Amino acid sequence: MADSKVSLDTISSLAKRRGFIFQSSEIYGGLASCWDFGPLGVELKDSVKDLWWKHVVRMRDDVVGMDSSILMHPDVWVASGHVGEFHDLLVDCLNCRARVRQDHLVNGKCPRCGGSEFTEPQRFQLMFKTQAGSTDTGKLDVWLRPETCQGIFVDFKLVQSVSRTKVPFGIAQIGKSFRNEVTTKSFIFRSREFEQMEMEFFVKPDTADEWYEHWREQRWNWYLNALGVKEENLRMEEHEQKNLAHYAKAAVDVIYNFPFGWQEIEGIHNRTDFDLKAHMEQSGKDLQYHDQETNEKYIPWVIETSAGVERSCLVAMIDAYDEDEIGGEKRTVMRFRPEVAPVKVAVFPLQKKAELQEVAKSLYMELKSQWSAQYDVSGNIGRRYRRQDEIGTPYCVTVDFETLDDKAVTIRERDTTEQVRIGLDNVKEWLFERLQ
Ligand code: ATP
Repeated sequence: MADSKVSLDTISSLAKRRGFIFQSSEIYGGLASCWDFGPLGVELKDSVKDLWWKHVVRMRDDVVGMDSSILMHPDVWVASGHVGEFHDLLVDCLNCRARVRQDHLVNGKCPRCGGSEFTEPQRFQLMFKTQAGSTDTGKLDVWLRPETCQGIFVDFKLVQSVSRTKVPFGIAQIGKSFRNEVTTKSFIFRSREFEQMEMEFFVKPDTADEWYEHWREQRWNWYLNALGVKEENLRMEEHEQKNLAHYAKAAVDVIYNFPFGWQEIEGIHNRTDFDLKAHMEQSGKDLQYHDQETNEKYIPWVIETSAGVERSCLVAMIDAYDEDEIGGEKRTVMRFRPEVAPVKVAVFPLQKKAELQEVAKSLYMELKSQWSAQYDVSGNIGRRYRRQDEIGTPYCVTVDFETLDDKAVTIRERDTTEQVRIGLDNVKEWLFERLQ
């Protein structure tokens, strides 16, 4: 495959066929831009989230985690600027009637028909609104959060005091966000309900530039070394000063070479003191940081890293997809890094015989307590390997008749298809070295 890019159709049909991702409410005709993650999808998602948490929170001693509520006081979204600013400008093409985002026109032309005449742009609020409480007690209009970071900003003081952290430090959160997106194509790339992995790093204002550089590098390395993305498919795209969001001093997007072009997978921003200042003004509460050593009081500046779980999963799938030939037979293989793969190990008894199944089942149960694993007895061994290759399982363990005598099994590696013979007692340790 090497150079030819996989199509989005190939990825989405594999995702459906093998239980990664389905259209939401499919039996009712589906709901645009809403997706369900199946048995393998949820494992993939968990691996991605776990890898992010491991590198952004667990392996550092200057970042703590939290999980804030999706529904928040409506004033949060006034302070953040979302009630006033969070909208798309939409135009209708006078030729084909398509409704498009004004910033999605291609050189001023309709992306569907190439027409160049449009209606006046209309504002379209991207936040979903709902109501909290019953009519008896009085209803309150609330929004489904369009980003997770505001939960971090409003709890900044609480988290800082309970965890006794000192600036510079970060607060991280993974959670659902909702946006009433106008464009509803490109599979899970742009969903109306999605998960974000966000980290807000609070710093002394005069150190913000250094920390911005630090996090750029950290996040770039995460995509390469943790998610395992090929470097040629990854770029950093700096925002020009004139295109910066209302809250940002500097911003860079990590962009990926999708089948539909280079698109954002993560934003890294220097948000200055915009958010804490805005929440101080709106709430009337003092959110300044008190530096005990210098006895200084100030509003920290914030470096934000904001990534999407679904976009990372899509990137992992596209980047891992490959086709090759094994012994003259074509195979589809997902070359996920072992830590990313939804299934880490599969166990097969060579035949359906009870004595083989007994050993294989017991090994499977042992491995399953540690990693996501599959057990497969159906079809010949070649077919079983192909099924695991297609979902990216890095290791397959086969129990054969010799196992009954030598108490050893064959482990086959996905990418090279090489096989090694390992003692039954050593399988867990062998895998442990390769899966951590
Ligand atoms: P875009 O320009 O693609 O709409 P954005 O600049 O609005 O994205 P941010 O607000 O910076 O995105 O959100 C941070 C991250 O959250 C994005 O890089 C992306 O990974 C994820 N994200 C944002 N919107 C969506 C969405 N509708 N569906 C899936 N992921 C999303």
